[in-house]
Amino acid sequence: MAVPKRKISRATRGSKRIHKVLTRLQLVSCTHCGSMIRPHTICKACGHYRGRQILVANNPSS
Ligand SMILES: [Zn+2]
Repeated sequence: MAVPKRKISRATRGSKRIHKVLTRLQLVSCTHCGSMIRPHTICKACGHYRGRQILVANNPSS
């Protein structure tokens, strides 16, 4: 089994891991209801996307 020749320094170890860092979740407010949603997605709360109703509410009362 291959064994590392020398210890990896903290700087080398950190530079190898830098691309694994998680980016913060981007949120924008819905133009229709104002709830926070991810950009370029349909709003789960009101079902609107780019000013149009996409999802129809599954509510039998409405
Ligand atoms: Zn909305």
